[in-house]
Amino acid sequence: MTDDLAHGTERTTVSDVGRELLAQGLTTGTGGNVSQLCADGETVAISPSGVPYGDVTAADVPLVALDGEQVAGDFDASSETPMHTALYRRRDDIGGVVHTHSPYASTFAALGDPIPASHYLIAFAGDRVPVAGYDRPGSEELAELAAETMGTEYDACLLQNHGTITVGETAEAAFEVALMVEYCARIHYQAISVGEPIILPDEEVDHLRSLFEGYGQR
Ligand code: 13P
Ligand code: ZN
Repeated sequence: MTDDLAHGTERTTVSDVGRELLAQGLTTGTGGNVSQLCADGETVAISPSGVPYGDVTAADVPLVALDGEQVAGDFDASSETPMHTALYRRRDDIGGVVHTHSPYASTFAALGDPIPASHYLIAFAGDRVPVAGYDRPGSEELAELAAETMGTEYDACLLQNHGTITVGETAEAAFEVALMVEYCARIHYQAISVGEPIILPDEEVDHLRSLFEGYGQR
């Protein structure tokens, strides 16, 4: 079916990763969103706004241009399209973006506290997970804050009083970063609840980041 659907592969990815967001408890209801840059390098497949993840088929996934203008799809694109497209415009090393409301990471976002390197898996995100200040969901201002905070150095940041945003070479990779951010947030939360966690030095986390590039079945 996706053979005759424009950018069917990328739209299928968005629909699949959306279901995983919900299945892995990284969001509640229709919160969060997923996008995948298409092979042409100028079209983005992004989850539709406010549609339950379980109902979203590949054909329901809207397409937008890098300036955020919708170019295909019956449903309106995610209200966070500005945040996704701002990241693609700024970074040529990424092909996927995931936004979550995952509970432990959102707890630190509510406090406005970055997640430090109390677990080595923080290296999926950077030497910590920084926090972008608050602005309204869906606003250009929030998009700017998130893109500024991540720069080219971080693959994740917290959105104050809101949730997380993560990037990767693909939407699946960005989803993996979101899972690791939530895991690290949970461990850090548990550690500070019972004692004082030991924080890994920046140099060690930098080293881990380069090791991760060669991890697994290349
Ligand atoms: P959308 O349903 O429009 O993608 O918005 C969800 C959300 O998380 C807003 O921040
Ligand atoms: Zn949100």
